[in-house]
Amino acid sequence: MSRVYLTIDDISTPYTPEIVDFLCDKGIKPILFSVGVNVEKYRKEALYALRKGVIIGNHTYSHPAFSSLTLQQAKEEIDRQEEVLDALYAEAGVPRTIKVFRFPYGDKGGDNREAIQEYLLEKGFSKLDDRAVGFEWYKTEKHAQEVDTFWTFDFAEYQIRPGSAFTFNDVLNRVYDRNIDSPSHLLMPGSNHIILIHDHAETEELEPNYFKRLIELLLEEGVEFMEPKFLPNEELQSLRDFFAKDLYAAQAGCQIDAVAEGYARCSLAIGPNHMNAVGSLMGGVPFTLADFCFAVATNRPGLHTVSVHSNIAYLGTPKGSRLIAEARKIKDGRRTCYYEVEIKDELDKQVAVVQITGLHMN
Ligand SMILES: [Zn+2]
Repeated sequence: MSRVYLTIDDISTPYTPEIVDFLCDKGIKPILFSVGVNVEKYRKEALYALRKGVIIGNHTYSHPAFSSLTLQQAKEEIDRQEEVLDALYAEAGVPRTIKVFRFPYGDKGGDNREAIQEYLLEKGFSKLDDRAVGFEWYKTEKHAQEVDTFWTFDFAEYQIRPGSAFTFNDVLNRVYDRNIDSPSHLLMPGSNHIILIHDHAETEELEPNYFKRLIELLLEEGVEFMEPKFLPNEELQSLRDFFAKDLYAAQAGCQIDAVAEGYARCSLAIGPNHMNAVGSLMGGVPFTLADFCFAVATNRPGLHTVSVHSNIAYLGTPKGSRLIAEARKIKDGRRTCYYEVEIKDELDKQVAVVQITGLHMN
């Protein structure tokens, strides 16, 4: 069996919501790479995807080939799409905790390749955790060490065009590796892939339901779809180092999963040490996690906020094995701030909600 991350390029289209619903039903979490001009045309479709909890990444504003651009033009293409995405996430009311980038056509910019990679790091883009991808070519071509999201398998279904000899059967041949000289066979047992498919209305019109048919096929072949995980970016790492000194929270098992302006997500694996004498979760455990999550959302080296008042409501007993807290800013002023922290388990069962008033110390 092979394990894959699913990436979908060139969104959005009128079909994006249908694709997202289909994947949600199957429990598959993709990364959608968006093109600015498409998002501007099909904005509510992109908003729909975000509200369903899907990550939308940057695939540039106008989909140019980067080796034909100057470094300045390349940066502008990235930045312009960043503005589109920041506005889209804000409108959807979803915190943008992960920024990922994919080059159009896999063209990494020719002579500007290194400079563009540096720029992506500087802008806070994260790297998909591709450490399990074992193909030699993936390493020698430097994809393993670069921050953009490359791929290891391409369905090439976009080549089905009017007048083209390429058919759906050729796509199937790629999946089964029957006729192509591929360095990375998709169904090779034990292999790890980043697979690429497109959300193209033109393909849907020529080959109805191509998207669903291909994903169903992989499921039938026993392919396992993995939830996207990212290598910690430097800011997240430095925050983790900083909060490792919160000994009480660290010993309780609190960990930082994501941070953004006015937002943090932290979690904790429930263990026997979190139980009371009758075998239920101690009320102090969700409270500790909420307090920690608030601290992560409001503290940085050099920026100190303390909680002065907290209020917790216990909503239910967790059924899962993990507590997940999300702290969100409700209001932030010069001296004080007000946050709400929601705690659920990994099965989405509500455990507690905590309101915290904080005081800025500097
Ligand atoms: Zn593309």
